[in-house]
Amino acid sequence: MSYVDEVYERVVAQNPAQPEFHQAVKEVLESLRVVIEENEEEYRKEALLERLTTPERQILFRVPWVDDKGQVQVNNGFRVQFNSAIGPYKGGLRFHPSVTLGTIKFLGFEQIFKNSLTSLPIGGGKGGSDFDPKGKSDKEVMKFCQSFMTELYRHVGADTDVPAGDIGVGGREIGFLYGQYKRITGLYEGVLTGKGLTYGGSLARTQATGYGLIYFLDAMLRANGKALAGQTVAVSGAGNVAIYAIEKAQQLGAKPVTCTDSTGWIYDPEGIDVALLKEVKEVKRARLTAYAEARPSAVYHEGKGVWSTKCNIACPCATQNELNLDDAKMLYENGCYCVAEGANMPTTLEATQFIQSKGMLFSPGKASNAGGVATSALEMSQNSERLSWSFEEVDSKLKGIMENIFRSVDEAAKKYGKEGDYVAGANIAGFLKVAEAMKAQGIV
Ligand code: NDP
Repeated sequence: MSYVDEVYERVVAQNPAQPEFHQAVKEVLESLRVVIEENEEEYRKEALLERLTTPERQILFRVPWVDDKGQVQVNNGFRVQFNSAIGPYKGGLRFHPSVTLGTIKFLGFEQIFKNSLTSLPIGGGKGGSDFDPKGKSDKEVMKFCQSFMTELYRHVGADTDVPAGDIGVGGREIGFLYGQYKRITGLYEGVLTGKGLTYGGSLARTQATGYGLIYFLDAMLRANGKALAGQTVAVSGAGNVAIYAIEKAQQLGAKPVTCTDSTGWIYDPEGIDVALLKEVKEVKRARLTAYAEARPSAVYHEGKGVWSTKCNIACPCATQNELNLDDAKMLYENGCYCVAEGANMPTTLEATQFIQSKGMLFSPGKASNAGGVATSALEMSQNSERLSWSFEEVDSKLKGIMENIFRSVDEAAKKYGKEGDYVAGANIAGFLKVAEAMKAQGIV
């Protein structure tokens, strides 16, 4: 049996009931096959793939807190410190009822390669909880965040592990987490990114993942003789990534016509009204029905179905496995020629294979959504030098980083005989740097 297959089987056997983690490992190992086979003896001897697929540390903890009625609630807390070969662990915290250890491991594993692609010195990690901030009062969210940090603080630090936001963790949650870290440790340091602008946050961090996705998409289209202006875009999600992807796509002349939340989706043939979407989701924290009520051109659909929209480009920006094989077929039949992932692993393996087999352009999230973590790393730099850069400075660095990521993904794909396969390009380019650093640092 080949080394790649052996390691995949080992991962499945040793991590039962973690299908998302298995899926992420399978996708990465499959596309690394060509590189691994070139160096199989050496990698096998050093157990490089076994080490790469085993987190350096997994922290599981209890998070007790008291709700507004005086009832004690208990949630599970997780932080997976996956790989620190190229820098301190870096990756977001997700608060969502679906979160399990397997979810966090899949996200942490993906984060290793994503962070490597940014060319910045950050290792891979991820964390979170099965806590659901939806429907909770600000006071309850604060109490939960304080309890979460009361355990997490001992495992993180500006030079060891620097969490950020993800699904369910935005500016409000980061503020509460930061306050508690400072209170316990007495340190005013850049231990979290995505902070508010009054206490060490970076301009353009809020916009970074969505803007970065569109900068990457633009670079990918241009390299393939196409242009973003004038294209109709179907976007899923109505959170941090989706909102700013829609905003930047509009700025560059495209027309995003959809967005989704966990209960339904909007089709707005006039183009999404970003100011209204921000008002509904960022200010009122309401459902998308509120968008449809305020916008005569918009139609609200209950449940799933966004990928039945006629579009040129699809940007899944909500959550993992939200675009399956049937969705991919519908997109293709409706004339869509490009899928650019804003979320982490939103496309199933079967859907990805279908999309690529039809010659559609496809960018994996670990490359096209890396703008968020890259700007988080820029926030760390600003915190270290105790300075703040202007919006334009951060945004122009972000654009440069995304164009650079596209170039390295494209070149790696070409070098290994897989031209146009940006999944392979991203995994190979991300892996080579981490593997080199792991080899240099000995068996640790
Ligand atoms: P948010 O919480 O801001 O928004 C998530 C959006 O997706 C919301 O509209 C939410 O609906 C919807 N959603 C979440 N879970 C589900 C689900 N299980 N089924 C259907 N809809 C769902 O998160 P982000 O925008 O920050 O993150 C979106 C994706 O992008 C995630 O995959 C995340 O890992 C990835 N990502 C985020 C980065 C960042 O900087 N924020 C960086 C890189 C990747 P509702 O409005 O109803 O809650």
